[in-house]
Amino acid sequence: MLISLVIPVLNESDNVGILWSRLREVTAAIPDVEFEAVFVDDGSTDDTAERIGHLASTANTHWLLVRLSRNFGHQAAITAGMQHATGDAIVFLDADLQDPPELIPIFIEKFREGHDVVYGVRQNRKEPLWLRFCFATFYRLFNSIAERPIPLDAGDFGLMSKRVAKLISEMPERDRLIRGMRAWVGFRQVGIPYDRPGRYAGTTRYSVVRRVEGALDGLFGYSKVPIRLSLLLGMCVCVVGAVYLLYSVIGTMIWRGTPERGWTSLIVLAFMLGGANLIATSIVGEYVCRIYFQAKHRPLYIVADVRRPPTAES
Ligand code: UDP
Ligand code: MG
Repeated sequence: MLISLVIPVLNESDNVGILWSRLREVTAAIPDVEFEAVFVDDGSTDDTAERIGHLASTANTHWLLVRLSRNFGHQAAITAGMQHATGDAIVFLDADLQDPPELIPIFIEKFREGHDVVYGVRQNRKEPLWLRFCFATFYRLFNSIAERPIPLDAGDFGLMSKRVAKLISEMPERDRLIRGMRAWVGFRQVGIPYDRPGRYAGTTRYSVVRRVEGALDGLFGYSKVPIRLSLLLGMCVCVVGAVYLLYSVIGTMIWRGTPERGWTSLIVLAFMLGGANLIATSIVGEYVCRIYFQAKHRPLYIVADVRRPPTAES
């Protein structure tokens, strides 16, 4: 059996060495399985690629380095890794050791038992409190409106069979939330709880802006609810207007004169209607721009080159 390990790396030069030694320890304990580590260098500007180039293969573990032409983002890097992996199953893990390699044997065991998808469920996260709060809110909101819920607190860390990986990599969509696509595919899936440690070296490669962008991609890419909400909002505003009109007409007839001077209510209405209009239009815009980018059919990533250890080439 061949297991591919897909590892996206962006400026992870301080983590590569320790990650490799932990991986080697884990893979040495499962000698009947072959491992192929597919590192995807997502446009690193440090010496990450050189460090990977010096990693020593072992009896059952070798590596492959796919270098992208620039930074395409975590999910695109994972997709590139999946499309270069040749294993019977693929394990996804981050390079910063937040996804403990020691869980890999458990993933493989579950795969052997017949599960197509095995994912890690984060129990004790070591990230800052505000970030944990944002994650929790996002996933609960996502699940309440998404077509198919994602298991709570599950990231990309996990294993998927070759057939699931093939199905996902053939999906043509640009907004790739792998954990969402994985949940959508179905088959036998199981979650394995684990404690998520903090990063080994360095800080997160995600800025707040990129996280917000990712969250919006998730919400708009996997749900019709936002556009339905804008319809609902529009309808509510219309109903309020109609009720107010009735009230004014009836009031005029009964009290012979306008029920109130109207200046305040006009201004409030103007602001509220303007705001509701803007919200509704921008929600439509979010979908339109996603359709536009999808329609351009640009590749998700560009591979600069693929490197292998010198021994594997000869
Ligand atoms: N990463 C990547 N491209 C990016 C951002 C991150 O390949 O644009 C890699 C990064 O090197 C790491 C993994 O994706 O191996 C997860 O990134 P990070 O640890 O920064 O994310 P977090 O754990 O904070 O969500
Ligand atoms: Mg991390």
